[in-house]
Amino acid sequence: MREASLLLQQLYALQGRALLPTQLQSEFGRLRFGFQGELIVDEWVDSVDCLKAEDLYIQCKSEMVQLDKVIFIGNHVIVIDAKNFSGNYYVDGSLLVGPRSTIENPIRSRYRTEKILKSILPKVNVVVAIAFVNKKFNLNDPIESEYVYFHHERMKLIKDLTRIDRDMQLEERNYNQLLSYVVSGDRFQSLYDARYFDVNKGLMCDCRAFVPIEIKERQKYVQCFGCGKRHILRELVKRNIDEWMSIYSRPISFREAVDWCEPAKKSTVHRVLNENYNKTGSRRKHMYECKDFSKLKYIKTKIN
Ligand SMILES: [Zn+2]
Repeated sequence: MREASLLLQQLYALQGRALLPTQLQSEFGRLRFGFQGELIVDEWVDSVDCLKAEDLYIQCKSEMVQLDKVIFIGNHVIVIDAKNFSGNYYVDGSLLVGPRSTIENPIRSRYRTEKILKSILPKVNVVVAIAFVNKKFNLNDPIESEYVYFHHERMKLIKDLTRIDRDMQLEERNYNQLLSYVVSGDRFQSLYDARYFDVNKGLMCDCRAFVPIEIKERQKYVQCFGCGKRHILRELVKRNIDEWMSIYSRPISFREAVDWCEPAKKSTVHRVLNENYNKTGSRRKHMYECKDFSKLKYIKTKIN
């Protein structure tokens, strides 16, 4: 399952809780759009039955490349670069110029990815495909390049993939060979220092409205007045504690969690913490951390 990057998780958790400067708000929009594009590519190739990997950071000597989606079929390794742009774009040299942004032409940048992968997998047919997944994307200049797919060409991509002869042995060999060059993406992600923001506490719905009503002891469900959604209270409390961890990148104390999840009752928060997180520290001062502690161990911060 593809997960949002830690930075995207942090910026999402701050939505509705803190006033973000325009620059961070646009960073959030860009990351979210990119992530949605990657999810669309996952869906596109979901029916293709073969070895797949996603969101890999590959390091070869001093070169680093991030791969959105990798598909192993026969002796082919196919990387799909997801592009979720919308609007009318035109080509200007090495750039694509659009209504809201100017970006590096992905047709050009894919040669670098190809070069790195070919040095790792010299006997393999390496293909870097580009998928413009957004149906509102238009390119005014024709692209004379193979393996470029637009929104309406999803079936063409699947046909191209399923045309390749399968060979399980080669697929596994190539998969393992590529995985030996995978490095953790953590060090390429730095999060914002939460002290920099004025963060509002309180139990919050996914629609980013606070759930301000009173919650009774033993109450199981809670309804959001913002969007009308009915939540299982404990699940909502867990999501809110996860959001806290995304923002602060450290274990949480019982008192902090109770404060954060207001108006949920202490007993509910206590139960959610005990059922979903690892308890650490001494008896008096214990803290709760994610069971997947890798999420918290790379605290690098950036401040504008
Ligand atoms: Zn809501």
